[in-house]
Amino acid sequence: MVTETDVQNAVVELLRKTVVRLPADVKSALKAAAEIETEEVPRMQLKAIMDNIALAEEGNTPMCQDTGVTIFYITLPRNCEVDVEKGIVDGVRLATKEVPLRPNAVQPLTRKNPGDNVGERMPFINCKVGDKEYIEITVMTKGAGSENMSQLGMLTPSQGVPGIKEFVLSTVLRAGGNPCPPMVLGIGIGGSSDICMKLAKEALLRPLNERHKDSEIAALETELLEALNMLDIGPMGLGGRTTVLGLNIEYAYCHTASLPVAVNVQCWAARRGTVRIHPDGKLQFPTHEEG
Ligand code: SF4
Repeated sequence: MVTETDVQNAVVELLRKTVVRLPADVKSALKAAAEIETEEVPRMQLKAIMDNIALAEEGNTPMCQDTGVTIFYITLPRNCEVDVEKGIVDGVRLATKEVPLRPNAVQPLTRKNPGDNVGERMPFINCKVGDKEYIEITVMTKGAGSENMSQLGMLTPSQGVPGIKEFVLSTVLRAGGNPCPPMVLGIGIGGSSDICMKLAKEALLRPLNERHKDSEIAALETELLEALNMLDIGPMGLGGRTTVLGLNIEYAYCHTASLPVAVNVQCWAARRGTVRIHPDGKLQFPTHEEG
């Protein structure tokens, strides 16, 4: 039977892979961005990013000094008896020492730093029960430079789709070079204020090369991506053809009198990782199959 220690060790390995190596879809998007840049400055910026990624992989060290805060999404089997939450918290503590992760999590008012990335509601764990026999743990390590550029807009229904486009555009313009572009955008539409922000972050978990299954939403994803890449903010904000590497939308039905829109801004270091812990203890890392 899987134990809390198994979960802890799986989380350490998951965090190590996540902060060292980007998922294949993000690396492909960076490579494609480099291929279409014609100007020297953005080409150099993308080359520096890709050299950085290669060095991190070679040295098994984090790709950025800001290893973020840890946001988890877990799916448990029915009748799961192991305390997965405890395993995750212990795993984050151990990973902070062993990977290492920068101790980023502080008390918001006193700014006191416990030094282990663990505190009230941190790591933050979103949990649901699924129908698989394995435990699935996904983590997003979210840096502050990009997260600080995220925004929620409580639009009126009369603002409609044009209002949504304007809000996304103004969020990206306001962000400029701050979130270490080329950025990835997770966009939430609908729900309520809290649901919308949650959808925006969850949208970042979908691979960049997968469009939404609803064709109308998929068309909006493509249209926004193309429009945003005409802004010439470019890699690291120094101009260029790729401001946004990828853009995913998730939506929920909302009140007839509301139209919430949320943009969660992610940087080029779009780190996300998943581990599956099977009942026999075997680990599988679907986001990091190559290493
Ligand atoms: S925004 Fe991203 S790439 Fe830039 S410093 Fe923060 S984590 Fe690193």
